[in-house]
This record gives sequence, structure tokens and C-alpha cells, in this order.
Amino acid sequence: SDFSTLALSPQLKSGLDALGYSKMTAVQALSLPSILAGRDLIAQAPTGSGKTAAFGLGLLQQMDAGRSGTQALVLCPTRELADQVGKQLRKLAIGIPNLKLSILCGGIPLAPQLASLTHAPHIVVGTPGRVLELTEKGALDLSAVSVFVLDEADRMLDMGFEEDIRALSKRMPKQRMGLLFSATFPDAIRALGTALLRDPVEVAV
Ligand code: AMP
Repeated sequence: SDFSTLALSPQLKSGLDALGYSKMTAVQALSLPSILAGRDLIAQAPTGSGKTAAFGLGLLQQMDAGRSGTQALVLCPTRELADQVGKQLRKLAIGIPNLKLSILCGGIPLAPQLASLTHAPHIVVGTPGRVLELTEKGALDLSAVSVFVLDEADRMLDMGFEEDIRALSKRMPKQRMGLLFSATFPDAIRALGTALLRDPVEVAV
């Protein structure tokens, strides 16, 4: 079905136009109505299913570029994925002026990232270890985050990030929207969903 069936703001529609998307993928059609209504979501969706735009539209709908402070955190297993997600979110956000997004990943020097955080980005996309490190150093404040996304959650658990993810969750308000995407659903993912999400809608593609 078509994106035009959704009640999207003109800003988000221009983002979709910039990306050239008109028809929703399966995961977008199944999850966007709940996401745009502000519900938590746990979705079984493989790489390439279009999940980035699904959580991206939900996240951007809730951003207020006129308000300072970090309002959304997207956690990814690798730097490559975080770069890819960050790029796609920047394109989707093309119609929203003054929205600042930072990509914060391990494996690259800390100093420039610390410097980049003197003005808090509205959106942070990163890997759990580095985001936690910057938070513990006091460089990143998560106390105003209203959207928390876990992308490829199963891979993050495989890489040993569960403790970091849970520690980050404690630094955000309990009152928030949580979206968890995973290609597979082992018990550990179900448990993480139960711990971090509130009454989530469940979707599988
Ligand atoms: P993702 O699973 O989010 O990494 O998306 C996989 C690929 O599909 C990416 O290259 C996206 O740019 C593309 N894509 C996502 N949603 C759509 C859509 N609704 N229409 C066309 N291409 C899309």
C-alpha cells in the first residue's frame, strides 16, 4: 500500500520524496500505523526489509527541532549499520530544518565525538558501548529521550551489548516510545523486549 494512506506531516512526505519511496514495504505497512500512534513495537524483520524508514518516520514525527536536547537514541550493532541508518535518517529528515543528528560509534577516536556533543544532537545513532561511554563521561544526556530504537537487536546481543543496552535504558525516562527490530527471536530477545518495552505491538514479516 501507499505512504499516502498514512497521516504524515508535509515535512516527512518531502523526506519520502527525497528517497523516492512511494509504496510501503511489508514491515512498513504492518508497523507504521502503530508506530505513528506512539505505541511500542517489537518486530521480526530481516535486513533489507525497510525497517529503517519504519522506525525513522516514527522517530522523526516525534522530534521537535525547536527544543534542545537529545530526543531520540537509535542503537545499532556495528559502525557500518549506524552509518547507513544515520544517512537514511538524514535524507528522511530533509524537510525538517535545524535537526541535528550525530553518529557515535566505537573504533574511532573519542575526542572529536566529545567535541561534537557540545551542542546536543536531537538524534543519536550509535553502537551501545560508545554511547554508554559518552553518557558516563557526562558528554551525552539521555534524560530527555522520548524515542528509543534497537536495530538488529539479536546481533547486538550476540556481540555482548546486552548489559550496555540495559544500562542505557536506565538513563532514559521510563515514559518513552520503544521500538525493537530483530531478524531472529531467541528467548533473550523476548526477555529484552519484556524488560524495555511497554505493551508492545508485535509484528513479523
Ligand atoms: P532497510 O531494511 O531499512 O535497510 O532498507 C533496505 C533497502 O530498501 C534500502 O536500500 C532502502 O533505501 C530501501 N527501501 C526502504 N523502504 C523503501 C520503500 N518504501 N520503497 C522503496 N525502497 C525502500
